[in-house]
Amino acid sequence: MLDDRYLYISALQHYAYCPRQFALIHVEQAWEENYFTAHGQLLHERVDSKESETRKDMRFERSVSLKSEKYKLTGKMDLLEIHLQDGKPIKYYPVEYKRGKPKKEDWDKVQLCAQVLCIEEMKDTQIQQAALFYWATRRRLVVEMDNDLRTKTIDFIQKSHEILANSFTPAPTPIKSRCKACSLNDLCEPDVMRTDNSEKYINSLFEDIP
Ligand code: SF4
Repeated sequence: MLDDRYLYISALQHYAYCPRQFALIHVEQAWEENYFTAHGQLLHERVDSKESETRKDMRFERSVSLKSEKYKLTGKMDLLEIHLQDGKPIKYYPVEYKRGKPKKEDWDKVQLCAQVLCIEEMKDTQIQQAALFYWATRRRLVVEMDNDLRTKTIDFIQKSHEILANSFTPAPTPIKSRCKACSLNDLCEPDVMRTDNSEKYINSLFEDIP
């Protein structure tokens, strides 16, 4: 059962990084801009500034608005390549731009898959592949939209909606190394929360939420 509110696709990255970070930003409305978030916005502004264009049998649409009624998602995608035949779309190929280089975790792939779910619903189509473009390597990483990635993405969407619906803030991530790079560290106080027994009790009420 999904929450009535729409979830920003970009918020799935917060959930994937740490469900508590997701809740601090999207439930408690806390936000600390740091280098990573500011730099990411600058990159997106560059992509957003370009116009759509058609070259031969390919149309390039930039900064495409996305929406899914089924998954209650909304957001934007950096680039949608549309393969044309006789002027009609025959294939959609989403591309998302990312700061840095490919990560060992699949957070970026989950975001891309959520974008694909939106495009499939909006255009009544099926998408087998999409791509992530990393500025640090200046390369595209082709991502297969297989069942594992789709299942994981839908699971993240549902759990994010559960947190929103319950206005629930989960416990700190057990992966302490993530806290060092987290822009919400000061607000979150993860070490204090990890030793707070009342928080453990509250969390036990939501054991099915990671
Ligand atoms: S400081 Fe750690 S536990 Fe707190 S929101 Fe950030 S990553 Fe999550």
